[in-house]
Amino acid sequence: MANESKINKLDADMITLTRYVTERGRQIKEATGELTQLLNAICTAVKAIGTNVRRAGLINLYGVTGSSNTTGDEQKKLDVLSNTLFVNILKHSFTTCLMVSEEDEKTVEVDTCQQGKYIVTFDPLDGSSNIDCLVSIGTIFGIYKKQHDGPPSDKDALQSGRSMVAAGYALYGSATVIVLATCSSVDTFMLDPNVGEFILTERNMKIKKKGKIFSLNEGYAKYWDPAMTEYIERKKFPKVCFYTA
Ligand code: AMP
Repeated sequence: MANESKINKLDADMITLTRYVTERGRQIKEATGELTQLLNAICTAVKAIGTNVRRAGLINLYGVTGSSNTTGDEQKKLDVLSNTLFVNILKHSFTTCLMVSEEDEKTVEVDTCQQGKYIVTFDPLDGSSNIDCLVSIGTIFGIYKKQHDGPPSDKDALQSGRSMVAAGYALYGSATVIVLATCSSVDTFMLDPNVGEFILTERNMKIKKKGKIFSLNEGYAKYWDPAMTEYIERKKFPKVCFYTA
């Protein structure tokens, strides 16, 4: 009985991503609710993509687009399906006007009757070459606001990173998490599969002033600027000091 009431209390205190962003939106006087609606749509898209990532091997989503599975149905690659899900869910949220996806050569313009004021840039399934060997994959996204009242154009997506309204990533690993950055904070939410909701697990995250680990793709080393190359060299081969008594 004691255990049961503990669990109920835990459930009641859970802060879901939906609750969190809604409360945050309500605290901003001039907010209309559009960004909150968009963040909730992204949360839905991540759940849908996550479900397909978990089942990919069972429902023939590892295949190449255009090939057929054993029953003759067309196979869809997981990244193509993820893109379709992301684009459709965001279109129908009535909060976006333009989308830039890693999967599409051209920008996706939302029908005028469904347009909102936000521009979303994203990769629906980053690291998709890792799909077949079950290495973690993710979704990354950035949100900008259209700065004028006219129709959107590709130029609207080419804003400085400093004018980003929000950004984040979802990771489909041993658990599914969303890390969301807005102007107020960076927070982590973990999917509770029993509840079907993302639960706030880490609030107001900060990068430590000093750390011991660096992580980057050395395959791009030839594109780094000299300062970056020198910095990484110094981290990898620190000068050893020998002190004599
Ligand atoms: P809106 O009218 O809902 O599009 O919001 C206007 C601006 O208020 C956004 O572009 C954000 O800068 C901020 N804002 C609104 N809702 C939220 C939220 N849920 N979390 C953080 N910032 C928000």
